[in-house]
Amino acid sequence: MGQPVTVRLFSQQPVTAASVSGRPAGTRTYEPPWDLRIEGYEPVSLPFPLLVRQTGGSLQFVVKLPVEAYVEGVLAGEMGGERGAAALQAVAVAARSYAGRFRGRHRDDGYDFCDTTHCQDYRAVRGAPDLAEAVEQTASERLWYQGQAAAGYYAQSCGGHTEAAANVWPDQAAPYLRARPDPHCPRLAWRAEIPREKLDQAMRSAGLQLGSGPLSVAGRSPSGRVSRLRGSGGKVIAESSFRFAIGRELGWNLLRSALYELEDSGSVIVARGQGAGHGVGLCQAGAAEMSRRGSSYREILAHYFPGATVGVNARGFPWQKFGGERFDLYTTTPQRDQVLLERAERLAAALEAKTGLRLKGRPALRVYPTVAAFRDGTGEPGWVAASVRGSTIRLQPGDTAAAALRHELAHLLVESHAHPGLPLWFREGYVLYLAGQRPGAIGPPPGDAAFRRGSAEELRAVYRRAAGAVNAIATRHGAAALRQALATGKLPD
Ligand SMILES: [Zn+2]
Ligand SMILES: [Zn+2]
Repeated sequence: MGQPVTVRLFSQQPVTAASVSGRPAGTRTYEPPWDLRIEGYEPVSLPFPLLVRQTGGSLQFVVKLPVEAYVEGVLAGEMGGERGAAALQAVAVAARSYAGRFRGRHRDDGYDFCDTTHCQDYRAVRGAPDLAEAVEQTASERLWYQGQAAAGYYAQSCGGHTEAAANVWPDQAAPYLRARPDPHCPRLAWRAEIPREKLDQAMRSAGLQLGSGPLSVAGRSPSGRVSRLRGSGGKVIAESSFRFAIGRELGWNLLRSALYELEDSGSVIVARGQGAGHGVGLCQAGAAEMSRRGSSYREILAHYFPGATVGVNARGFPWQKFGGERFDLYTTTPQRDQVLLERAERLAAALEAKTGLRLKGRPALRVYPTVAAFRDGTGEPGWVAASVRGSTIRLQPGDTAAAALRHELAHLLVESHAHPGLPLWFREGYVLYLAGQRPGAIGPPPGDAAFRRGSAEELRAVYRRAAGAVNAIATRHGAAALRQALATGKLPD
């Protein structure tokens, strides 16, 4: 799944008017940067292409983004409140697995996923450091079962016992999605009162016939969830139809799960229940509790998806971490990649000697097992050999990684010392200069926007022009002028 995913924003709200970057939105693709403004909502801005379609009287907004960025937005939507690092990491793996398995479920509507809990609750925000961290720590990892991509279902609270997929979506039945007691679950007890006339109204609206006699439970799944209800005259209906009808008419927060007892006094029906959501797969409340008690995300996933493996590919290779003197290495193939640690130390020392700058913190190297996993994990096209996010250098496997390492180290060094006011061409050009890469002919330096789009060919030319401009400064004013500009943000004339 090396391709980006398409996610529809504002899936639930009919939108008839909006502006993108200050102009009325119409059918077209907007390249970043853009900001989307709809009256009554916070403005949205993401560094990815936005597709707008006018269909009938309303507007549809679809953003095209790398899977990893999607997972970060899903964490923002699904993991509110208190959240331990391991719980976030576990849900990141589950959400990524869900994305891989169900990509294209809205294909007929023209996108992969909606932004509601029908698919996964996606929030178009970025920047919460603990969410980005959880995504990075589990980069590209998904759930697998016997060599096949597994479905990473999760729900808010299982109420003390998870549910088998077989009882909710028979076509998704799987051994790793079976019902199990959840000793970690805080359970979440609730109580709902439904006046008889409101219940009758909801049944009528949904076209369900229950009769007017007392309502009782007619069947439960092995996890204890109600599966069927009986009305007067022996009429039996599926609990899922009943709960859906109640939810649509009276609100989704009334019957929060199918795990409840019923009491019918005639004028009012009282349900006493536990948990929230379908209960299949990972229990978010239980995962948060396990996280608090010190479990790792792998332990959490093993508990909720018994028999499934976690890894970046079907063979379930996990990330392994190796600590060097100044760097950490994450890899799935240590015997191949461990040499990079030593090489990074050596290259960093050489760059520091050349610039007089010191690399800050403890950077990480992450080597992806395949080009597809790299594309998927970073959102970069396949021809980009490496990229930097935060203090992590992300590399494709093989020889290209080794060649790209010096360039990315130069990036880390420059970016951690660069004055915020400096134009992109200076920072990128300085990186190329330090990495000893071939500069282009001397000419006017490219603007920031030139770095954001274009073919591989065009972008290489942009970078060469940037390097040419930086080389010209070094030739005219000396290398010390570059260091000074980096620190002060003032470029020599
Ligand atoms: Zn959906
Ligand atoms: Zn639970």
